[in-house]
Amino acid sequence: MATALPLADGKPNLDYELVLDCVHCGLCTASCPTYVETGNEADSPRGRIYLMRQVIDGALKLDETVKGHLDLCLNCRACETACPSGVQYGKLIEPFRVHMEEKEPGRSAANLNALQRFMLFRIFPSRLRTRLALAPARLAQISGLDWLVESLGLTKLLPPSLRRMKAMLPKLKPHYGSLPEVLPAEGKRRARVGLFLGCVADALYPGTQLNTARVLQKNGVEVWIPRAQQCCGALHYHSAMEPQARELAAKNCEIFGFGTGMPDDLDAIVTNAAGCGAMLKDYAHMMHGHPAEEAAVRFNSKVRDISEFLYDLGPVKPTHPLNITATYHDACHLRHAQQIQKQPRSLLELIPGMKLVPLGESELCCGAAGSYNLTQPEMAGKLGDRKAENIRATGAKAVFIGNVGCLMQIARHLKSVVPDVWCAHPVDALWASYSGEMPDELKV
Ligand code: SF4
Ligand code: SF4
Repeated sequence: MATALPLADGKPNLDYELVLDCVHCGLCTASCPTYVETGNEADSPRGRIYLMRQVIDGALKLDETVKGHLDLCLNCRACETACPSGVQYGKLIEPFRVHMEEKEPGRSAANLNALQRFMLFRIFPSRLRTRLALAPARLAQISGLDWLVESLGLTKLLPPSLRRMKAMLPKLKPHYGSLPEVLPAEGKRRARVGLFLGCVADALYPGTQLNTARVLQKNGVEVWIPRAQQCCGALHYHSAMEPQARELAAKNCEIFGFGTGMPDDLDAIVTNAAGCGAMLKDYAHMMHGHPAEEAAVRFNSKVRDISEFLYDLGPVKPTHPLNITATYHDACHLRHAQQIQKQPRSLLELIPGMKLVPLGESELCCGAAGSYNLTQPEMAGKLGDRKAENIRATGAKAVFIGNVGCLMQIARHLKSVVPDVWCAHPVDALWASYSGEMPDELKV
């Protein structure tokens, strides 16, 4: 791996050696969703690395065309998985985006209107605020008012941005409130973990959070859920708002006990949201030069996705059959950013009665990619439709997905293609099989 050679002032704060790792072989292009859709070399990983290098070398102006190709990147990192030369694309595009933001403050959020900016950066990074903001929508859905409004076509009266955000909402179930701070292991204790809830995941899919805790307990794991935990910072970091992301990271290190310098007794920090997990695993890199860097390195070493943790622990075998054909979508932040592929599939394969069938283009981004849905709605829509069509072609009655953003995007696009497919997290299926409590979607 290349050593850090930061560029001179006025240039992006990235390691130029990483740019040179790309040998322009093009083996990554077929895995790049934007290239697959547009066929334009400048929308491929190779093309984007070339553009960034040309700008750094001063051979190309950072004009609107160049920015457009870089903005269209989903940061899904499928190119990293495909690249035989080990190019660390994420470590290029993210600092380069920060550089673009520094040169033109506010540009990364310029495609968003005031309401979207408020939701993304003020509401979503707080579990409580997100939950409160969703309360009217939850009430409208549960009471049937939402259905009435839709049937009468009244949603057309909403401003387009609000209509788009409303369309992204999944079916909301009642929220359980707050989980206890400590949940004991069932039987002999095999491990003790801190559970990282995530903000949007907790507000939109509370049942999945509950199921994650129950599955861990069932596997002999004591679960500690620090109340004060903060947003992971991914929304900020991927929108080139690095200082805010670093502040959140420093707080999380402190809250999970890594800021004190005391030896910790946690076996892992577990999350079920791939987007949060990828960000948490990147804390050491993101916090470089920050006073909390050492704490971030220790924190970083403990982070595990729930599927990774259970697989390594040796899962207790689920017993109740789920007699369905199901498939699995690889969330980019799991498959590409964390290289987690076999673990969730292996867990699902333990469930009696379930037939797991492969999904075509499983590794291709569904178009969710954080706020991409709002900033690049056209490309996000094309990729969402493509994913829904691939799922329909499997004939599966359930699709399992390890990330909240993908869950929302896929459920939304499946609605018009095969609306009765159960979209859920693998822990939802595991808990159903452990407990015998079938989810509503599987009740006939
Ligand atoms: S990123 Fe990797 S796969 Fe793509 S062109 Fe460069 S070296 Fe080849
Ligand atoms: S991160 Fe994804 S969208 Fe961006 S260049 Fe790589 S494969 Fe293409």
